[in-house]
Amino acid sequence: PEAITVQELANRMAEKGADLVKALFNMDMPVTVNQTIDQDTAELLVEEFGHNMVRVSAADIDISQTVEADPEETLRERPPVVTIMGHVDHGKTSLMDALRGANVVKGEAGGITQHIGAYQIVTKDKQKITFLDTPGHEAFTQMRMRGANVTDIVVLVVAADDGIMPQTIEAINHTKAAGVPMIVAINKIDRPEANPQRIRERLLEHEVVVEQMSGDVQDVEVSAKTGAGLDKLIEAIGLQAELLELRARPDREAEATVIEAQLDKGRGPVATVLVNRGTLKRGDTFVVGTQSGRVRALVDDKGKQIKEAGPSMPVEVLGLGGVPQAGDVLTVVENEQRAREVAEYRREQATEKRTAMAPANLDTMFAGLN
Ligand code: GDP
Ligand code: MG
Repeated sequence: PEAITVQELANRMAEKGADLVKALFNMDMPVTVNQTIDQDTAELLVEEFGHNMVRVSAADIDISQTVEADPEETLRERPPVVTIMGHVDHGKTSLMDALRGANVVKGEAGGITQHIGAYQIVTKDKQKITFLDTPGHEAFTQMRMRGANVTDIVVLVVAADDGIMPQTIEAINHTKAAGVPMIVAINKIDRPEANPQRIRERLLEHEVVVEQMSGDVQDVEVSAKTGAGLDKLIEAIGLQAELLELRARPDREAEATVIEAQLDKGRGPVATVLVNRGTLKRGDTFVVGTQSGRVRALVDDKGKQIKEAGPSMPVEVLGLGGVPQAGDVLTVVENEQRAREVAEYRREQATEKRTAMAPANLDTMFAGLN
């Protein structure tokens, strides 16, 4: 059956049926606990309540056994990974451009940035910050659905001359569901109609209490247009990152998450990955989702070829056997044979799963609910 009753799903998630009904109502789907919902809606709910769907595959287990947690003493500080969210036209793209522009190290390569799905800036005090270049909630949500939580900090952009809009609320909900700390950037303060205080007050209604309202969510007034407040925003990100004590072991074989991937006419399958831990090097053999490969080249966000990429660094990888999916994890393995074996195994598993799920079965689907 492609459907499940709200109550059944609630039971499996160990949540109250009434809470699910409420969430569905907020999603414009008025149902009762005994009514059924389809799989997509069920997935949305699972995501809304912050449950991870654990994909169980022997090959995954196989590999994760070789990549247990790194010992405390090997961990080093790593840059924060930031996603910018907010309502359409509130200035996400402008803000990202401004942040990048203000911090692009001019000189070689003319400071020209290419689109690789993520980019890194270096602040005045030499701190690095990685920004995911896919504004909006879709990418964030999709990644989380696939079990990949790469974002450390969300910057919520709210236009000071507008207000809390539907996608603002959506962003707040997604961020809360993910348990990711938020910084509010009140944008467009250069506009004569700007009223940042009203934004702070309205945020209270959505249980976002910013510092200026005696809460603990940092808020910064900015203008992507004039550049006002950008330094403060960068400072706020740095402060939040410090609190999070983000660390990873750099001196080990790499594990990275695919941010985006496509088939490039000239270069073949290309994936932009974000290194979770370890250092990805040219020549490394790896498996990523159901694909295997060998790193032929690494290209940074400025289009420059580099030899290696450490934790939190976004980098384009060339040398894949096929196009992986966003959210897939790239794992470096000892040799090409092993990489091919695991990839092959996963492909078989995927085929089996598809067959088993022919009459799509939510029991299987949600077997790994936690
Ligand atoms: P997005 O949809 O959230 O990515 O928003 P955009 O970055 O595309 O911006 C929407 C519109 O607002 C564009 O016309 C921008 O030029 C304008 N805009 C963005 N930031 C500012 C700002 O700080 N001040 C002013 N006056 N306009 C801004
Ligand atoms: Mg935009």
